[in-house]
Amino acid sequence: MPEPWARHWTVSNPGWKENSETEFAMALIVQKYGGTSVGSVERIEAVADKIIRFREQGDDIVVVVSAMSGETNRLTALAREMMDQPTPREMDVLLSTGEQVTIALLCMALEKRGFSARSFTGGQVKILTDTSHTKARIREIDGTRIHAQLEQGNVVVVAGFQGVDDQGNITTLGRGGSDTTAVALAAALEADECQIYTDVKGVYTTDPRVVDDARLLTSITFEEMLELASLGAKVLQIRSVEFAGKYKVPLRVLSSFEDGPGTLITLEEESDMEDPAIAGIAFERDEAKLTVAGVPDVPGIAYKVIGPVSEAGIEVDVIVQNAAADGSNDISFTVKRAESDRAHKIITDVAASLKAREVDVDTRICKVSLVGVGMRSHAGIASKMFKALADEGINIQIITTSEIKISVVIEEKYLELAVRALHSAFDLGDPESPARSIED
Ligand code: ADP
Ligand code: ASP
Ligand code: MG
Repeated sequence: MPEPWARHWTVSNPGWKENSETEFAMALIVQKYGGTSVGSVERIEAVADKIIRFREQGDDIVVVVSAMSGETNRLTALAREMMDQPTPREMDVLLSTGEQVTIALLCMALEKRGFSARSFTGGQVKILTDTSHTKARIREIDGTRIHAQLEQGNVVVVAGFQGVDDQGNITTLGRGGSDTTAVALAAALEADECQIYTDVKGVYTTDPRVVDDARLLTSITFEEMLELASLGAKVLQIRSVEFAGKYKVPLRVLSSFEDGPGTLITLEEESDMEDPAIAGIAFERDEAKLTVAGVPDVPGIAYKVIGPVSEAGIEVDVIVQNAAADGSNDISFTVKRAESDRAHKIITDVAASLKAREVDVDTRICKVSLVGVGMRSHAGIASKMFKALADEGINIQIITTSEIKISVVIEEKYLELAVRALHSAFDLGDPESPARSIED
C-alpha cells in the first residue's frame, strides 16, 4: 500500500495517468521550479500552464521559484568585478534580486491566463533566518499570510533562496537554497506534498550528465539522499533533505519538462524493495588537499594543525594522518577549493611554528563516493570499489568510510572515468534506455 501522499500524488499530477480515476480531496501542494525550468519567458509560461493544470483540479498551490538560470552566477560575477571580497550582507541584497524577477514574471504569466496569483519575497512571508549571510538557516516561517491568500483563491508564488533575519536584513540560504525554501514552506504549511521540479526526471544512480545510462530511481531513502546530497549530488540542497526528514515532508523530485512519477524520497526502507548494496554515486569537484609533512608524532599534533583552520571558519572535510618510522607525522586534509588559499596561509604559519618539513597544496583533486544503506549488510563493497579503480589505473590518495558510504580522493582528471567505472562495476546502469532527459 503506498503512502497516502504518494497515492495522492498519482491523482493530483494530471500528467501521470495511473490511478487517475480515483477521487481524492483537494490538497495543498508546494511546487518548486529550478533555474533551468524558469530560464526564459517561454519556460515561465510553460510553468504557468503546468500550475494551472493542478489548480483546475482544485488543489491549492504554493510555488517557490529560483532565479532564471545563470542569473545568480551573473550577479556573483558583477560583485566580484566590484571588489574581491564583497561583504556578505551586500552579497545577499544583490543575489536575492534574481528570485524577485522570477516571482513577478510567473505571476504575470498566471494572471495573463486568467488565474489570480500573488508574488511574495521571503521577507514578505516572514521566512525568518539566522544572520549568517550567504549561508543562513531558516528558523521560523509564519504561514498566516500564505494561508489567507490561498483562502482567497490565489496561487501563491514565493521567492526561493531568501529570508530575513530578526533585524529585517535580507539573507540567502546558500547555493541551491530554493529547494530548502520549498521544503521548509511545505513543513510550515503542513502541505500534502512538496514537489521539486528540475531539469532531469528525478534522482538518478549518479549525475546523468556524467553517465549516459544512469538509472532513474523510483524511490530513495532519506538517509541515502542525505548522504548523496552532502557528498556533492546537487539535485537537492542538503538542508532541504534534512528538513524533509525532520518534519516528515512528503518529497518528490520530478521533471519540469516531461510527465512522470519522478523519485520519491521515502522515510523508511521499504522491506519488499530489492536490496541493492549501492543506491548511487556522488562526486565533488571543487576540493583541494593540503598536506603538512614532517611534524612531530606527539599527542595534540592533529589539533595544532587542523584547529586554526577550523577556527577560521573553514570547513575541513577528509583528514588522514600517517606516522613514519622516523617518528615524524604527515597530516593531509581537504577543504573546498575556494577556501584553499586561505587554508594554505594558515597552515604555512602553523608549519613554521611546528618546524614542519614541508607544506603542500593540491587543487587538482576530487572526491568520489559510493552510497547505499545496503552496505550495512553487504560485504566486500570497498574491495570491489578499489579494484574497479585499480583496473583503470586510478590512484587513490585518501579513503574514508562511514556506515553507508565510502569516499575516495583521487586526481580530478580521473573523475568521469572513475564514476563510470564504478557505475558499471556495481551494475547501476539502465540497460533498457539511456534514461537521459536533460534540458539546458
Ligand atoms: P535546479 O536548477 O532545478 O535546482 P540543479 O542544477 O540544482 O537544478 O540540480 C539538478 C542537476 O543535478 C541535474 O541537472 C544533474 O546534472 C545534477 N545531478 C547530480 N547528481 C544527480 C543525481 N544523482 N540525480 C539527478 N541529478 C543529479
Ligand atoms: N538561485 C540560487 C542558486 O542558483 C538558489 C537556487 O536556485 O536554488 O543557487
Ligand atoms: Mg538546485
